[in-house]
Amino acid sequence: MDLQKKMFKELKEKKIFDLARNYAFSYADNIDKMDVFPSDENLKNLEIFEEAIPDDSASAKSIISQLNKFGSPATTAQTGGRYFGFVNGGVLPISVATKWLADFWDQNGGMFLTSPINAKLEMICEQWLKELFNLPKETVAGFVSGTSTANFSGIVAARYRLLKNQGWDVNIKGLNGAPKIRIIAHQQAHSSITKALALAGFGKENVEWVESDDQGRMILDKLPKLDSTCLVFLQAGNVNTGSYDHFSEICKKTINAGAWVHIDGAFGLWASASKSLSHLTEGMELASSWATDGHKTLNTPYDSAVILCKDSEALISALQATGEYITYSKQKDPMLCTPEMSKRSRAIEMWAAIKYLGKKGIDEMVTGFHLRAKQLENGLRSNSFTIINEVVFNQVLVSCGNPELTKSTLLNLQRSGEIWCSGSTWKGEPVIRISICSWATTKEDIDRTIVAFKKARITASA
Ligand SMILES: *Cc1c(COP(=O)(O)O)cnc(C)c1O
Repeated sequence: MDLQKKMFKELKEKKIFDLARNYAFSYADNIDKMDVFPSDENLKNLEIFEEAIPDDSASAKSIISQLNKFGSPATTAQTGGRYFGFVNGGVLPISVATKWLADFWDQNGGMFLTSPINAKLEMICEQWLKELFNLPKETVAGFVSGTSTANFSGIVAARYRLLKNQGWDVNIKGLNGAPKIRIIAHQQAHSSITKALALAGFGKENVEWVESDDQGRMILDKLPKLDSTCLVFLQAGNVNTGSYDHFSEICKKTINAGAWVHIDGAFGLWASASKSLSHLTEGMELASSWATDGHKTLNTPYDSAVILCKDSEALISALQATGEYITYSKQKDPMLCTPEMSKRSRAIEMWAAIKYLGKKGIDEMVTGFHLRAKQLENGLRSNSFTIINEVVFNQVLVSCGNPELTKSTLLNLQRSGEIWCSGSTWKGEPVIRISICSWATTKEDIDRTIVAFKKARITASA
């Protein structure tokens, strides 16, 4: 068989694209009817994929059909209005549409030379994000896969700068025998911070852990005396409570000491783009670097995040890439600010999302997450559920009064097909955690969610 001919034919006839599009549209049309988490039967059906690698080329139609028949029912209904798991976020129609177009371009976003359009849109997004978040002019942005990678990028930039200040070039001398960097984080730092620290050569025992309060914010009085060798981690949006650290007070101390502050704002940084919520992020512009996701609060497709860094020299030096075949252009080459070399051109969908929503639309969407969260809080409270956290943003932590009942209610909710949310522990007790971060969640979805909670608790106690 002439495989090349076969592929040219697929491309020319477009039948496989029509098929994929029809399946995709039908998926979108039925999202509200499907189980929010797949049934046991649909999970079991995934066994169909366990086969030996075929000897011969399979038909494109059969591949797409298999994926639709057995893959679609084994998805979580994340693009619907009642998926509240982790902090996953939905997806804007405009972002999917522009991604489809850009998929045909298949651009390597690493350099200007490999994709002028992506490089251009990264520069536009960089400007827009700085304006939305009110960050200093000199801030540069690197477009990466997730906040985990953005956190890592911020850490290596800080590592570069804090060592350079002590006369040590980490790119040449490495970490062996390097001067000390003091790492300050509070107990509620996200697990991606400890992971990224480990990747950068720092273990948990190298961290000066600071106590956090009942909402997971760093306790100001517990902050140790800072100096210019310190890397301090703060959080905009605790993954459980949604709480924000006291940026103004802490950043002022770090600036005076000459320390570096990195803010993990995976989903929470976006509160600064909402007029009624921006008080939460007050003072965050005083930090040195910030990490945030596109795929959470902004509702871009996966995977999409940004490292924003005030010290461009530190970020670019830390993520340096050299190779004789690399041709840097006069434009900013995207890979200068990312750990990756070849990469997805993810700024395309981020640009489309921001342009589509506009400042007012972003404000409306982000504020909407908070309003839905408050609606849920009130509805659950009046049905005698306990709300553990101050609902300052989009996270709601729920308890049923005793640990066993909370756990079984959560299991029932997860099996209900009506909604899906994840669990967590807070102060050692199990909690049900709801995160509202999809544009598609309506007031009616919240009403249905409250009914689902009541039902799940009754079945649990029966
Ligand atoms: C989700 C999250 C992360 C990790 O982000 P990814 O995009 O999953 O890599 C880090 N910090 C916080 C607070 C988060 O909510």
